[in-house]
Amino acid sequence: QSKELSQARIDYHVALQSLQEHGTRMVCTGKMHTDRICRFDYLCYSSEAEEFVFFHSNSSVMLPNLGSRRFQPALLDLSSVEDHNTQYFNFLELPAGALKFMPKPVFVPDVTLILNRFNPDNLMHVFHDDLLPAFFTMKQYSDLDDEARLVFMEGWGEGPHFDLYRLLSSKQPLLKEQLRNFGKLMCFTKSYVGLSKMTTWYQYGFVQPQGPKANILVSGNEIRHFAKALMEKMNITKQDEAEKDGGSSEQERERDKKDEYIAVFSRSTTRLILNEAELIMALAQEFQMRVVTVSLEEQSFPSIIQVISSASMLVSMHGAQLITSMFLPRGATVVELFPFAVNPEQYTPYKTLATLPGMDLHYIFWRNSKEENTVTHPDRPWEQGGIAHLEKDEQERILTSTDVPRHLCCRNPEWLFRIYQDTLVDIPSFLKVLKDGMKSKPSLKKTKIASTVHPGRVREAHCQTSVQTPNEAKLTVSWQIPWNLKYLKVREVKYEVWIQEQGENTYMPYILPQQNYTFSENIKPFTTYLVWVRCIFNKNLLGPFADVLTCRT
Ligand code: UDP
Repeated sequence: QSKELSQARIDYHVALQSLQEHGTRMVCTGKMHTDRICRFDYLCYSSEAEEFVFFHSNSSVMLPNLGSRRFQPALLDLSSVEDHNTQYFNFLELPAGALKFMPKPVFVPDVTLILNRFNPDNLMHVFHDDLLPAFFTMKQYSDLDDEARLVFMEGWGEGPHFDLYRLLSSKQPLLKEQLRNFGKLMCFTKSYVGLSKMTTWYQYGFVQPQGPKANILVSGNEIRHFAKALMEKMNITKQDEAEKDGGSSEQERERDKKDEYIAVFSRSTTRLILNEAELIMALAQEFQMRVVTVSLEEQSFPSIIQVISSASMLVSMHGAQLITSMFLPRGATVVELFPFAVNPEQYTPYKTLATLPGMDLHYIFWRNSKEENTVTHPDRPWEQGGIAHLEKDEQERILTSTDVPRHLCCRNPEWLFRIYQDTLVDIPSFLKVLKDGMKSKPSLKKTKIASTVHPGRVREAHCQTSVQTPNEAKLTVSWQIPWNLKYLKVREVKYEVWIQEQGENTYMPYILPQQNYTFSENIKPFTTYLVWVRCIFNKNLLGPFADVLTCRT
């Protein structure tokens, strides 16, 4: 901190004068509090009041200027979890003149990103809620570079994964409790407040049962871009995938094949696989591969990622450690195990991740369906699934139920009871699920060919009409290929034409391989038709429609 202080002192008077004259300035993106990120000049923080402060002057700026709507419910979400009422951000207001009567502010010279971590104790939350959103928020604003300062306002301690947060920038992140060390009033010269939610794919069930977000906006490419950047920061070297695929000799491929291995992610305190050794033997025998175990309790995070980043398969009990599947190579398989009475379809953060388009992972789950193979822990504390505190009837109901009904987050005792069971994995049923699952594994080559380049609009679309008889007419539509097609190798190019009689609600759709067509069925004389044309690559890559054609027969 002494460094900041000395740096800040260099232009202290300039900064103070600027704050007094101009006050705080804020400009934000986003129409709603849930999609807002704000950039501030001279946002201040009072550690005494534990509040951010906006100083008004004649030239201060506050966009959006919401008036008291700023409290309905808040200016913005400080974490990436949508509209969570413990994660709201707001500031207090004061006239800049009040500075005269306040403790001398300490200025933070670094460009700062201010956010809440959502649950820094849990590895899945660390990645999904904090690291990915912070990484891409920093990509969005170029002055949030490697020198940026992160400030975590949720009020927790460092937590077990603080080293991961340190990878986001070269400067040590600050915790809320550390802000006191800067004095009673600190002012961030330039700061951004809030996180991009663009990369999140899962909602945890606060308002409806947990599941994939309704509108996922991230693909495997962004996740892998992030994973690669993080691996570089951790100094993890991985055999280049391009090198591996391109021009490798038969011998090399043979050797790669021999080097293939399966990683089993082991948990050692809760939700155990009771016969891990047996499971490992079965995997080794079935796939004729080495099996390596990793565990958060026994290894450093980078050494785990080193192993996972070259594994052909990752096998793990459902749980936060499965977030590491984002570091698997393309084409790898994720095998997620679920304890008795837990429906895999209802808890899909890792399935959703693995199956994001472009993630190129194969996902398989196995579920314990034999009650005699589960070990329950009714006497543990409630947060580890204990049920001893419940009424006898309720305990009985839970013990006899074989399926946890849909529920909201986060304290449903039946869910906690079941998800913290230990499991003896039935090897024959596990191998069957695995073998069946591997049959539908797409080859990586095939997925690579499926490109993601969309067609442009068709060009120079025209229509010509003619009337044959009082009851018959013809409509000829023609167009040119999309401009980008001439630079592409596309397996299949088709065109979709919609014809709508003006004033009608319905339209007739046609799929055509060629660039012109004469329609005569259902075409009436002296009628106006609206015609839309678009291009489709490989059956499912839809292009935009060209401007609508108005064609009168
Ligand atoms: N954890 C672990 N070993 C265990 C149990 C938990 O490493 O035996 C880690 C887990 O990966 C997560 C954190 O501790 O990062 C919290 O685990 P919890 O079971 O509460 O959450 P879940 O894994 O169900 O998300």
